[in-house]
Amino acid sequence: MQPVGAAVPLRVDIADKTFMSAEGVSITALRDLSFEVRQGEFACLLGPSGCGKSTTLRILLGLDKEFTGSFQLPQGAQNRVAAVFQEPILLPWRTVEQNVRLALPKDRRAADLDWLFDSLGLSGMRSLFPAELSLGLARRAALARAFATEPAVLFLDEPFVSLDERTAERLRHLLMDVWSARPTTALMVTHNLREALMLSDRIVVLSARPAHALGVFDVRLPRQYRSPQVMDDLLRSFRQRFPDVH
Ligand code: ADP
Ligand code: MG
Repeated sequence: MQPVGAAVPLRVDIADKTFMSAEGVSITALRDLSFEVRQGEFACLLGPSGCGKSTTLRILLGLDKEFTGSFQLPQGAQNRVAAVFQEPILLPWRTVEQNVRLALPKDRRAADLDWLFDSLGLSGMRSLFPAELSLGLARRAALARAFATEPAVLFLDEPFVSLDERTAERLRHLLMDVWSARPTTALMVTHNLREALMLSDRIVVLSARPAHALGVFDVRLPRQYRSPQVMDDLLRSFRQRFPDVH
């Protein structure tokens, strides 16, 4: 039982999600997938390619209602939900700044967003159009748009794939800077173990398809102490607990 007034976590209990093709072939993507993310926690869903991670996010975003089970999203901030996908999906005829502001409710469109553009290293790019941005910069703009809304929960679907490792690493640090400034409950999907260990408070480890949670790995160490040596230790203890996960 949740005590009255306590922060409500993200709670997921999906019994079954099965896709049915036009030819009648069925693919069960999720079966008995249950996990929780505490309020204000940054969590990763870690699982192999094709196991059902994006399917899970689509369900939590309300984009797919064809499943059995239930979930509960964190409350607060008018229950706003924000998402960052692999594709930045910016409006091409609007500047970076306009793209970010258009995500805001009308009465907050003029808000001071200097801190946000600063912490994502976008101060000099506010008046650029999406076509003028590299993929890395476009992803930063998508992050800015998501954080600008100050959501009660933030979903991210592999936001660092297809970037060279240096750019990805810089983006991970920027994400942590901006998230630490305004921590919000976040669930990020990734198949990258090192990335999950670097960013997470909690890692929900998924099986191959149909996805269910193999277990939870809590990283209690503050992020600023996760040096390369410490990361090696974290990797080792993770592998001890989940020897079959790569
Ligand atoms: P992940 O994000 O973990 O890589 P997905 O959630 O995208 O995996 O997909 C999980 C499984 O469900 C895959 O086998 C995929 O082929 C299948 N799948 C996803 N979307 C559909 C769909 N619209 N129709 C049929 N099968 C789908
Ligand atoms: Mg996916």
